[in-house]
Amino acid sequence: MILKEYNPLFPTVGTSSPLVLAGPCSAESEEQTLATAKALHREGINIFRAGVWKPRTRPGGFEGIGTPALAWLAKVKAETGMAIVTEVANARHLAEAVEAGIDGVWIGARTSANPFAVQEIADAIAALPSSVRESLTVLVKNPVSPDIELWIGALQRIAGAGVSRLGAIHRGFSSYGKSIYRNHPLWRIPIELHRRIPELPLICDPSHIGGSRELIAPLSQQALDMGFDGLIIESHCRPDCALSDAAQQITPDTLASILAGLEKPDPEHASTETLESLRREIDSIDDELIELLARRMRVAREIGQLKHSLHMPVVQPRRYRSLIESRSEAAAKLGLAPEFIRSVLEAIHEESVRQQINLR
Ligand code: PEP
Ligand code: MN
Repeated sequence: MILKEYNPLFPTVGTSSPLVLAGPCSAESEEQTLATAKALHREGINIFRAGVWKPRTRPGGFEGIGTPALAWLAKVKAETGMAIVTEVANARHLAEAVEAGIDGVWIGARTSANPFAVQEIADAIAALPSSVRESLTVLVKNPVSPDIELWIGALQRIAGAGVSRLGAIHRGFSSYGKSIYRNHPLWRIPIELHRRIPELPLICDPSHIGGSRELIAPLSQQALDMGFDGLIIESHCRPDCALSDAAQQITPDTLASILAGLEKPDPEHASTETLESLRREIDSIDDELIELLARRMRVAREIGQLKHSLHMPVVQPRRYRSLIESRSEAAAKLGLAPEFIRSVLEAIHEESVRQQINLR
């Protein structure tokens, strides 16, 4: 078992609380990499992140500078003493990053979804000299899909390679449809991960969850309130000119003021499953419920338009009866009381009907 107190993720640069990793989405040029790192270092940041190989959803985007950028990260380390961290997606990336003196690597969301790729990286880590392996930090981002078993499986593959400086990064999950988030936080999943592996350090990535500058502060605060151990935040010396993820990058200056404004919960308090943290879990579930209800009402209104154009009545009793029956059965299987679920469904149906009537 990996115990947090024996598992400081970046012992060479100290273990600030919360742990903060910051740097640009991508290392774009030597000048941009060094300027950003130095500005961050002046703000007290001592762990520098920068993407060298960028897994883009679609071809044609900036796919990173690749190997030559590793020398810029090495220069950051030499000139500032910061620990350096980058993303690896295969065994070659890992070997080259280690060769460049990397302190930590993260496995990205698209890679952690692929057990073959994770195993390939794990095998490459297992083959490293033990002193290198023991001082390498490996952070595993959640896979793009909300599948906690896949996330835990990836963590197990890396732990199995003999990595003890192991942590998880929560960067949210892809979802279909409109949302204020770029990747939905679905907080219950990292909370469940923490319940199942309490010793595992948990880092939140508000940049990729929010996808916008304004959401970084509130998401960071939520993460700290939920007992996360650290934050990984994208920062660029000229965010508007960034070649990737420009909308979510902030200047080192802005980052410093966001960090200064965060309330850090008492670690004694945060480490126990307090009433407060359970209440926050309820809050985030309620947020999800509200988003779901709003989505359901949007679909109900579309159905309403259709019924209107087909000259159908709003209420269809047969459909309503079968809906109540099937949902009640499904709810009973999950241990929900029949009277409770019936009253919830009735209230939802009543509101759908009201909205459909209003369309006429
Ligand atoms: C990143 O950290 O720049 C990145 C590509 O993240 P993710 O794998 O979470 O999309
Ligand atoms: Mn990014």
